[in-house]
Amino acid sequence: MTVVTRFAPSPTGYLHVGGARTALYSWLYAKSQGGNFVLRIEDTDIERSTQGAIDAILEGMQWLGLEWNDGPYYQTQRFERYNQLIEQLMSEGKAYKCFMPAAELDELRQQQMDNGEKPRYPGTWRERTDHPQDQPFVIRFKTPLEGSVTIKDHIRGNIEIANAELDDLIICRSDGTPTYNFCVVVDDWDMGITHVVRGEDHINNTPRQINILQALGAPIPEYAHVSMILGDDGKKLSKRHGAVSVMQYRDDGYLPQALLNYLVRLGWSHGDQEIFSVDEMIELFSLDAIGQSASAFNTDKLIWLNQHYIKTLPPEEVAKHASWHFEQLKIDISQGPNICDVITAQAERVKNLKELAQISQYFYQDYEEFDEKAAKKHLRPVAKAPLLLVQEKLAAIPSWTPENIQQAITATAEELDVGMGKVGMPLRVAVSGAGNSPSLDITLSLLNSEQVEQRITKALKYIANRENS
Ligand code: GLU
Repeated sequence: MTVVTRFAPSPTGYLHVGGARTALYSWLYAKSQGGNFVLRIEDTDIERSTQGAIDAILEGMQWLGLEWNDGPYYQTQRFERYNQLIEQLMSEGKAYKCFMPAAELDELRQQQMDNGEKPRYPGTWRERTDHPQDQPFVIRFKTPLEGSVTIKDHIRGNIEIANAELDDLIICRSDGTPTYNFCVVVDDWDMGITHVVRGEDHINNTPRQINILQALGAPIPEYAHVSMILGDDGKKLSKRHGAVSVMQYRDDGYLPQALLNYLVRLGWSHGDQEIFSVDEMIELFSLDAIGQSASAFNTDKLIWLNQHYIKTLPPEEVAKHASWHFEQLKIDISQGPNICDVITAQAERVKNLKELAQISQYFYQDYEEFDEKAAKKHLRPVAKAPLLLVQEKLAAIPSWTPENIQQAITATAEELDVGMGKVGMPLRVAVSGAGNSPSLDITLSLLNSEQVEQRITKALKYIANRENS
């Protein structure tokens, strides 16, 4: 049997971390079993579904690298198929028209609740044949009156629900459109879904869906109902907790590898291992190792993972994502040092890629102004002589390598008989505009000798202006 899983978002908003984790688990299971992963857009709620949300979901999935090998399917394009199967159930006597007016149903529900009963439709029209003409009706599914449904759930074990608990659910509204539960069933069948991984908020739908699958003669998939994600305050994760859209994490400088690693551990474990490459996740993942309890989001851990991946992934891999942040700052990285070398130089110093781009701008374009604090402290008249001498020595370097650069700096300090800092700090502020940079030999080697020469001149001018004012 080929495993087929799916991710079936309703496009009523962006892809949030809860959805992304469900998608990841579903994707991982398919991958781990050499199976297929289907993407299905559940857009039947026309009022609330938007193209913007569809695009945001696809963008989020692509950014995370959760590629689907079937779909995306759109439920709104499959109405013919749903209606065909509704008719089939009708003709087989497995569904029926219900003419109960909405007001009567509401009243009945109210009575049931007043009596402390669970509100349920009592099957009023199930066997009636006295159908009125020209009256609106819905189509209801005939839930078996006896017996029970067993959900095989990889996370929660077997769950048995008595059919007596379930009422005859509506599968087609009075306007002729199929309902959500019906579309899901038809799709899961048509798309050959073997394992349904979804949020636990759908668990009440599952026995109803299984009954319909059975009535259609379709195989019953296995299930994994994933628990909720809570905020770090223990409350249901919401916008109040900050960035919950997956793309917001990209904007904030996270690597998808870090977010995936974070999300996989939010509910799934393999011993006490914390770091998982995507390949390792695929190798080790199993639905049975997903925990039952809700997991709390922990931003510090995500930050830690992000730093880990910035430092340890091949720079070429980091570069794929970092270049987007340079673009946002309108920095052209095609001129200047290779971005991989910049990443290697800065990786230890940054928490995220946004910061990486921000503090690396001077490699690609001249900074506009000196950082005030750094300039005040280091570009003082005493720095003039070291800057002039180091400028001269740097200009004389035969080949622009970190070793030769280092040698020029050391020789300057020795010749003037001053500590390295007296040369290094003014030089650092001169070339980077600020008081922080990777080691000077590396920083300078990533620039070219003309840029360094010009920036030292700029620093000398700054000192001269200061002297004159
Ligand atoms: N469309 C549903 C949602 O976004 C998921 C349904 C399912 O996975 O069965 O919550």
